[in-house]
Amino acid sequence: MKLVKLVYQRIANKIRYIDFLIIIKMAKKQRLQSPQGMHDILPEDQKYFEKLYGIAENIASFYGFEKIETPILEFTDLYEKGTGLNTDIVEKQMFSLKTRGGDLLTLRPEFTPGVMRAFIQHGMMNLPQPVKLFSVGSVFRYESPQAGRFRQFRQINFEVFGEKSPAIDAQVIQAFYNLLFELKFKNLVIEVNSIGAGCCRPYFKKILTSYLRSNINSLCVDCKRRVRENPLRFLDCKEEKCQPVKAQAPQIIDHLCEECNSHFKETLEFLDELGLPYRLNPYLVRGLDYYTKTVFEIFSEIVSPDQVLPIALIGGGRYDNLGKIIGGKDIPACGGAAGVERIINEMKKNQFRVSIDSKKEVFLAQVGDLAKKKSLKLFEEFRKAKIPVAESLSKDSLKVQLTRADRLNIRYTLILGQKEALEKTVILRDMKNGIQDTFKIDKIINEIKKRLKRKNNYAIRSKKTK
Ligand code: AMP
Repeated sequence: MKLVKLVYQRIANKIRYIDFLIIIKMAKKQRLQSPQGMHDILPEDQKYFEKLYGIAENIASFYGFEKIETPILEFTDLYEKGTGLNTDIVEKQMFSLKTRGGDLLTLRPEFTPGVMRAFIQHGMMNLPQPVKLFSVGSVFRYESPQAGRFRQFRQINFEVFGEKSPAIDAQVIQAFYNLLFELKFKNLVIEVNSIGAGCCRPYFKKILTSYLRSNINSLCVDCKRRVRENPLRFLDCKEEKCQPVKAQAPQIIDHLCEECNSHFKETLEFLDELGLPYRLNPYLVRGLDYYTKTVFEIFSEIVSPDQVLPIALIGGGRYDNLGKIIGGKDIPACGGAAGVERIINEMKKNQFRVSIDSKKEVFLAQVGDLAKKKSLKLFEEFRKAKIPVAESLSKDSLKVQLTRADRLNIRYTLILGQKEALEKTVILRDMKNGIQDTFKIDKIINEIKKRLKRKNNYAIRSKKTK
């Protein structure tokens, strides 16, 4: 409610004074919170993101994925056509807006349609195929926020365009599996299924629809609606009521055409050859309309006490028709997305060690006005010498500054007091053994260089002898 309107209502005595105060207080509080389901990533969490992104970049480079960045907003009809009108994403989860010029745009709820659009728009089908693309960034879905389900979250995407071979399906799964494996996730399980394509899926949909119609009274409310709109979604319904009907339901892998069947069989053979821990899940359909043939999800089955069902960390599949659906032509493609926050939550819950490499090994502490001035200059000299230095120029107490140096796990602290500032000297304290020496201020950079070199040589030697 607008403030002016509220004030008028109060003056006209239409709302009680106490309610007026409560509304104002709530409005103030609301303004100081991030929107529901959207979170700040605080400095202390950055190390997890850096670690995950670092591994993703290494994997991308090894498998030949090149980075692409697409706009965070796309035309809404890209998702209506691509992701599909009957999907949860398009039906209920898009953040859409109309621009001043009248364009209907949507904050990307997933990467794939935008990356496919870019592939077609920039004529990448004329490059040597396959083209492998890699993207990282935020996606937005208007979900009901709960554990592991946010409205803004980040994804790491790998997509391969222009190749039909099931070897690619297996390679995409392998690349994503490696992402979690390199993070030292244990008990990884890959679930796979094939949902066929235009050649066999319509026929299977008819069989499934007629089975569901004959059991309509035993279905949950959502599935009753799905029978008409998107019967395949019944297969991944988690409602208890639907489970007995599901157990007897026809399975799509029994109704694949010859081509889809042999694609699936070969994909599984490649997974066997790679020694990947997969299992068939005939109920895995994934929520999006554009998938054809292979679909997969990857879970970590370290189930923590507060987590009853393991949640998918990564999901993807093949989408050979997406190019045509969005207005281009059929382009064989396969890819997937890793949920960054979900992976990081698991890393934290299972107390994965992410080493905090404090790149700074020198701390500059000062006491008194003259020393503060001198240390400002010394700090700049260290920058020119390319030696990272931490400082606490806003602090006056030496004790506070030394505690901070200690917390940052810093090896050498430089201390400049009034006496040192006048004598143009500086105290160097080795934080490991507490030994202090005094040096001329113009010799201190060389001294630090010498000590860091010695320390690094020692670290390399002891690594080699391990
Ligand atoms: P999808 O794009 O739906 O195939 O999801 C791919 C991955 O993104 C999932 O396996 C999750 O790890 C992650 N993910 C999907 N939806 C959410 C959400 N609402 N909040 C956080 N992570 C999500």
